[in-house]
Amino acid sequence: MTVAVVTGASRGIGRAITQDLASRGHQVVAMARNRTALEALAREAAGDVVPIVCDVSDENAVNEAFAGLGDVDILVNNAGAATSNPVHRTTLTQWDEMLRVNATGPFLCTRAVLRGMRQRDHGRIVTIASVAGLSGGRYIAAYAASKHAAVGLIRVVAAEVRGSGVTANAVCPSYVRTAMTDNTVAAIEERSGGAAGSGEAILVAQMGLGRLIEPEEVAAAVAYLVSPAAAAVNGEVIVIDGGGGE
Ligand code: NAP
Repeated sequence: MTVAVVTGASRGIGRAITQDLASRGHQVVAMARNRTALEALAREAAGDVVPIVCDVSDENAVNEAFAGLGDVDILVNNAGAATSNPVHRTTLTQWDEMLRVNATGPFLCTRAVLRGMRQRDHGRIVTIASVAGLSGGRYIAAYAASKHAAVGLIRVVAAEVRGSGVTANAVCPSYVRTAMTDNTVAAIEERSGGAAGSGEAILVAQMGLGRLIEPEEVAAAVAYLVSPAAAAVNGEVIVIDGGGGE
């Protein structure tokens, strides 16, 4: 049985990826900080899910968590956080927090599995970055910088594993229907003084797709990238945004 590690598995996109990979017969190690949510997921998933509490921004915690695992075939760097502020109001604390979770987290987890994958000449690494990892936008300096770093890391790993049985790719969605987007919607409503529900309409109006993306649509892209069919896909970015905004 192949072993897949999914970080940020306790809710949202990571939960959907975990359920999808487990239903395809992978053993999934589900990592996040919320033990209760991970244990509920392990009970509910249609497949083998092993919950492990781990803060991906903590070097010791990541090294300890991965040292306790056997060979890892698939790593999905999904854990992430978002914040919003104009650059001149972005605090160093916000900046550091975004980089720690969204960039250092994928670095630590990737480093923890890469040597073993290279030795076995087999492995798949996928990072859930964002369209904010490919271009800028208003009020997302810390988030966009951290996601650009995450995409940059994937491109470097892809270059280093080129020609081996290991691949490294990124998935970059626009707004997905999760708690993270709920927070964005709430912030828009607060800023605009709009009624409940108006924030989602404003977001969706910016998306050419005309609707939010569902977590399962991101999971489907991950399922492809970790499949044998994607053995020749390395260093790529799959953008899930319906073809762009406005
Ligand atoms: P979410 O609903 O807020 O879930 C975030 C997940 O990350 C949770 O499981 C959380 O679990 C985990 N997490 C956060 N900090 C962590 C840490 N330090 N260590 C370990 N786990 C941590 O967000 P989501 O929308 O599913 O986002 C998942 C990924 O997709 C993120 O990387 C996000 O940036 C990216 N993304 C999201 C969107 C969107 O519109 N939602 C768009 C593009 C990209 P615990 O709190 O239990 O630790």
